[in-house]
Amino acid sequence: MSRVYNFSAGPSMLPVEVLERAQKEMLDQGGSGQSVMEMSHRSKEYQAIIDNAEAKLRKIMEIPDNYKVLFLQGGASTQFAMVPLNFGSKNKKADYVTTGQWSKKAKAEAARYIEVNEVASSADKTFSYIPKLDKSMFSPDADYVHITYNNTIYGTRYTKIPDTGSVPIVTDMSSMILSEVVDVSKFGMIYAGAQKNMGPAGVTVAIVRDDLIGNALDITPTMLNYATHADNGSMFNTPPTYAIYICGLVYEWIEKMGGVSVMQKINEEKAAMFYDYLDNSSMFKGTVVPEDRSLMNAPFVTGDADLDAKFIAEAKAAGFVNLKGHRSVGGMRASIYNAMPVEGVKALIEFMKKFETDNK
Ligand SMILES: *Cc1c(COP(=O)(O)O)cnc(C)c1O
Repeated sequence: MSRVYNFSAGPSMLPVEVLERAQKEMLDQGGSGQSVMEMSHRSKEYQAIIDNAEAKLRKIMEIPDNYKVLFLQGGASTQFAMVPLNFGSKNKKADYVTTGQWSKKAKAEAARYIEVNEVASSADKTFSYIPKLDKSMFSPDADYVHITYNNTIYGTRYTKIPDTGSVPIVTDMSSMILSEVVDVSKFGMIYAGAQKNMGPAGVTVAIVRDDLIGNALDITPTMLNYATHADNGSMFNTPPTYAIYICGLVYEWIEKMGGVSVMQKINEEKAAMFYDYLDNSSMFKGTVVPEDRSLMNAPFVTGDADLDAKFIAEAKAAGFVNLKGHRSVGGMRASIYNAMPVEGVKALIEFMKKFETDNK
């Protein structure tokens, strides 16, 4: 069996070491005689697994003690509703920055429950940049500000945290969590679906500052209230047990690699290599302004839809899969998350160079 280089935006590659360990532990988890999948979530064995996952995440992200770590279901998309329901009860209004499809969806969902103000948008240039933001643009009486830290589809990312004064920032980090060092204390809340850079689909991690929990709107369903999950150690009901276990293994892998700062260095190296190549290519071009380029998702085009399709097909045949851009954008996109080795990016660049020569 040979493994492909998978450039999917999500679900995406996982480290081979993690998959091998899961394989080894599949039938007998730690001498329990069962798979993690078969365990009661109320068992001592499983409690140790979820406790370990939380402890490792706290360690590698340096999460302060006044933040809860919650393992939730419903994907990042459910957070689009949970955020306004839980944080929008004071003034019933929030500021949103629109930088792509996911932030648009987050804003639309919030508008079902509270008043939403669009602070800025990069829709005018197909979301190819991050709008310049300064404190005067934000509403001092907003209950929170929502930003999408890395825009998976368009390939942009924030390089600095906006100054919103005392208004807490809520951020969707689905496609960049654990890819670079983040100062958690600068945020009211961070959420991320696991399937981009953390583990399998099925679990969403929410990191929530204590004081923001417990003020949900009255209409909030029990399962959508952060307090429900915070008060019950993410075990109000059956959590996505296996997905949490794999996340724990990924956190351990990152710790062994040297931590998030080491991942960041490797990610910067991979991204620099890829963008340098794009900038010097006469066939392929990046679609994002250089200063806002994502470390994780790199969209690119040839400018010719037929040539794009030929490239995607030939790349797939050569073992470079899922390079097709998002259906709303077209072209190509290489998602190069933590689990994508440097060699994978190097091999892709070599393949692209050869494609260029062959298709001159
Ligand atoms: C993938 C993605 C989502 C949606 O995640 P689901 O878990 O499928 O709901 C939301 N936000 C961002 C930034 C994403 O990349």
